[in-house]
Amino acid sequence: MSAPDATGLLAHAGGSDGASVSEQSHVRGDDRRIETLAVHAGRHTDRATGAVMPPIHLSTTFERDADGAYPSGFVYTRAENPNRAALEECLAALEGGAAAAAFGSGMAAITGILQTLAPGDHVLLPDDLYHGTRRIVREVLGPWGLAYTFVDMTDLAQVEAARQGSTRLIWVETPSNPLLKITDIAGVAAIAHAAGAICAVDNTWPSPIGQRPFEQGADLVMHATTKYLGGHSDVLGGAVIALKDDDFFKRIRLIQVLGGGVPAPFDCWLLLRSIRTLPYRMRAHSENAGKVARFLAGHPAVATVHYPGLPDHPGHAVAARQMHLFGGMLSIQVHGGAAAAMAVAAKVTVFTRATSLGGIESLIEHRASIEGPHGNTPPNLLRLSIGLEHPDDLIADLAQALEA
Ligand SMILES: *Cc1c(COP(=O)(O)O)cnc(C)c1O
Repeated sequence: MSAPDATGLLAHAGGSDGASVSEQSHVRGDDRRIETLAVHAGRHTDRATGAVMPPIHLSTTFERDADGAYPSGFVYTRAENPNRAALEECLAALEGGAAAAAFGSGMAAITGILQTLAPGDHVLLPDDLYHGTRRIVREVLGPWGLAYTFVDMTDLAQVEAARQGSTRLIWVETPSNPLLKITDIAGVAAIAHAAGAICAVDNTWPSPIGQRPFEQGADLVMHATTKYLGGHSDVLGGAVIALKDDDFFKRIRLIQVLGGGVPAPFDCWLLLRSIRTLPYRMRAHSENAGKVARFLAGHPAVATVHYPGLPDHPGHAVAARQMHLFGGMLSIQVHGGAAAAMAVAAKVTVFTRATSLGGIESLIEHRASIEGPHGNTPPNLLRLSIGLEHPDDLIADLAQALEA
């Protein structure tokens, strides 16, 4: 199927009114505050019933008029669906972008971005990043012909030195997983643009409330909506948001629609429901994490606390400049190696031992043992996703678990 045919399927998002979404003031240049956008963006009273909150449109197909037209603009759910369109409208508004594409997982969104590139193109990535991103590059797209370099992005000189003539994309993840390294987004975006490359930011950890990469010069923002946007550990999803609805983004849209890695309507509905409370959840996650981080920084069993809100974190100054909130994620390295770390995780009772992050419930995880041979996480590291419990209960739980 050729590109124009596929775009023709996108009667709603990529059609005549979709093409002008980027110019419409209700998405870009909207001066309403983020709490208001979180409640209202993508919310439309249902014309058929008057329902204030959206119905879930499970239908995979939409009726044509006798003259062949699609009066609703919707044709087939892989191409576009009302619940997905509403979610995408909201995501674009929250990040201040022109357009968004929702995927069935964060990894599908990452793969969608990387699949726009051709064999021989070069990508620069941070040395500390989500292990799934590292693996898809090394094990799938590398063998397919994508060239790549992992670099310490806390040092812009190293980014500049690693850039090649064929570099098409610089991938940023800040704060990084699991060491919470901070990358200067504006600095990397400037290096990317000088080389005619695109700067994409995995903004999953801070969420659009904690960090707005377009303000720093990024071109693309990616989210695992599974995490804070979903917020309740019960929906898997991903998204790509573009500053401009340009040819590069149209290619991502094409991969979304033709590759078919799209989210189900119910998942889109769940995500939109959760996003309505995102600003307030993020503030509480961040406030609780700050309190837990300060407690852990003063604990004798803890060798290092990685949290950008702590003044002695090496990335604190950059984080304070480019983040609106320091976020709900932190990691610690305990004295005594892997066994000591596992022993702490074994003793918690309020925290749950599980992977993932961004939910209302606090999670603790021994990263090295889940990443296995693919990871490079220190063996004495525990990653904590700080939830919305009372911070004193979280601190008391960690205090008893850290007792010798
Ligand atoms: C979880 C996560 C992903 C992958 O998202 P999935 O929905 O699990 O595919 C990507 N990046 C970061 C930073 C993540 O935390």
